[in-house]
Amino acid sequence: MESIKLNNGVEMPTVGIGVFTFTPDEAESSVEVALKNGYRLVDTANAYVNERGTGRGIKKSGVAREDIFVSTKLWPTEYVNERAIDETLERLGLDYIDLLFLHQPTGDWKAGYKMLEQAYKDGKIKAIGISNFEGKYLDELLGVCEIVPQVIQVECHPYFTQSETRKITDEKGIKIMCWYPLGHGDKVLVNEPIFAKLAEKYGKTPAQIILKWHNQMGFIVIPGSRNPEHIKENADIFDFKLTDDEMAEIAKLDKGIRYYNGGEAELKQYATWQPEYEK
Ligand code: NAD
Repeated sequence: MESIKLNNGVEMPTVGIGVFTFTPDEAESSVEVALKNGYRLVDTANAYVNERGTGRGIKKSGVAREDIFVSTKLWPTEYVNERAIDETLERLGLDYIDLLFLHQPTGDWKAGYKMLEQAYKDGKIKAIGISNFEGKYLDELLGVCEIVPQVIQVECHPYFTQSETRKITDEKGIKIMCWYPLGHGDKVLVNEPIFAKLAEKYGKTPAQIILKWHNQMGFIVIPGSRNPEHIKENADIFDFKLTDDEMAEIAKLDKGIRYYNGGEAELKQYATWQPEYEK
């Protein structure tokens, strides 16, 4: 599996599996299938309420812990819980996390970020991430942080390529990790004629063409799938390369359109909503 170097020297795989909306059992089986088929990156979150299932999938895969890159996310209500990282580790059944995010720019995120910085210094986490910190939130965070984050996880796909965020992250050496890399499975995106044309040319599927575009953009992707065939397919993108002209053609699809438009009202709710963790 291909990897890239983060701004602190840590190596991170560029393709992983994401388990948003998965039950604990679905997370367990999908993570096991992915790791047994060459994946080395797994992305979950406190709020997905499947960290225990994800941890079971990691164990059942038989892949050595040090060969797997695990990312998860602290939910805003945890930013003021000084035991939050230890509790996350306990749910995952791990003794360190490769990349820990603040999931949302709400609640006392400055306290949350300090907690991540301390955990990084203590070796409990190997890299720091921020998720959904776009625009003013990214500016504010970079103004107050002691350690520049290594990764930002944001909505990103051919219809919305994060061109504004990239102006800042490119300068700071922060890598972009794309959520909804396949537009959350949106058929309109996946069925764009350009992807069918390139799929035919390269003997790949439209989903693989989209994931290859991400890869050549320098993005990290975590497509979600419960389907073992799709899981295998989504990591099988390293035996071909899109031409510059083809990348330019795909770039024309950027409509600046997001699938998720939560805004400030949702962020306010996120500040107090408490996940009910699996036992
Ligand atoms: P996605 O864009 O990865 O789309 C997944 C859907 O695409 C699947 O449900 C399936 O219907 C379809 N699909 C997957 N592989 C396919 C294939 N090979 N061919 C055809 N269709 C295929 O969206 P997602 O799963 O919702 O998001 C991916 C990950 O991003 C999540 O699991 C999670 O880790 C992360 N995420 C993070 C945030 C955040 O706030 N940080 C928000 C949403 C998602």
